[in-house]
Amino acid sequence: MIKFLDLQKINQQYQEQFQQKMELVLDKGWFILGDEVKIFESIFADYCGVKHCIGVGNGFDALVLIFKGYIQLGKLKKGDEVIVPSNTYIATILAILQADLIPVLVEPKLDTYNINTDLIQHKITAKTKVILAVHLYGQLAEMETINVIAKQNNLLVIEDAAQSHGAISKLKKAGNLSDAAAFSFYPGKNLGALGDAGAITTNDDALAKVIFALRNYGSEQKYHNEFIGVNSRLDELQAAFLNVKLPHLDSENEIRKTIAKRYLSEIKNDKIVLPAYDLSGNHVFHLFVIRTSERDVLQAYLKQNNIETIIHYPIPPHQQKAFAPETLRWNSLSFPITEKIHQEVLSLPISPVMTKDEVDYVIKILNQY
Ligand SMILES: *Cc1c(COP(=O)(O)O)cnc(C)c1O
Repeated sequence: MIKFLDLQKINQQYQEQFQQKMELVLDKGWFILGDEVKIFESIFADYCGVKHCIGVGNGFDALVLIFKGYIQLGKLKKGDEVIVPSNTYIATILAILQADLIPVLVEPKLDTYNINTDLIQHKITAKTKVILAVHLYGQLAEMETINVIAKQNNLLVIEDAAQSHGAISKLKKAGNLSDAAAFSFYPGKNLGALGDAGAITTNDDALAKVIFALRNYGSEQKYHNEFIGVNSRLDELQAAFLNVKLPHLDSENEIRKTIAKRYLSEIKNDKIVLPAYDLSGNHVFHLFVIRTSERDVLQAYLKQNNIETIIHYPIPPHQQKAFAPETLRWNSLSFPITEKIHQEVLSLPISPVMTKDEVDYVIKILNQY
């Protein structure tokens, strides 16, 4: 069986270093916000090219804490609107709601799966305060255009960079293309921990200061609480594991890119639509997502041939039960491009531990379909 993502194999590469780190943390006996978290915050900020990185509990909290930080600074308030792509992982939208803000959905482009920047302007109202860009599947959203629109309309820009660690555009990396960015280190992400973990990156000193406090009960000094904060600290052990893996992120992303290149040039089947990916570095291939009108048939065929695939994602956010009439009244809305994407997409296996033979085999089976 070719696994969709062999997490065991990915992490076994680093097993010895993980064990050394565990011993180090055990020996020190300091388990919350210790040296490993400080080191990670420093090297991940450097990696992204930003002034500040704040380690938090997960990617969802990273998004929520950015919003709460801006609320604390008076730049956002309850009921403000946030422009967000209508096809994203549900966490992006739940984070907006969690911060008492209003998500305003905008359709993506069919060929890149990212937000259609042509449609943003006429969704902007007097209440709009933020554009939340998602670098879906690992590919950067059109940040230059988004930043121009934001500047013209006096909006904040936030990146959901949960799928795009290391993606780069004109020398600037994901996490450094907006006012503040949220990362997830969920085990399956390109930079994955061995449990939940997340971070915020920003060049904004005031925002960083508030979020450092908010993630730890709103306290800068123990037992002195300046803000109504939460407990969402990056775990010391997870930070230690991330410190082992971060130096290998670029080479792991390169392997993903090599596989993507082969898929793009060697998959030749009229029934399969390959995405319009450019290979300049703005895509780190967290996922390689094809489209076909007979998605479920193709998925079953691949399974018969021992190839595991996953659908990202089977139900669009606006059609989720959670947003039924009693809550957001979204279920009756129509987002045709988003709906088409959710009906047709299929993610092929791609990972830094996939062998050449496995890639050969996936291509061969797809071309025989
Ligand atoms: C994974 C993910 C998140 C949430 O991250 P968690 O660490 O699981 O909370 C948010 N947005 C996107 C686009 C994601 O892929």
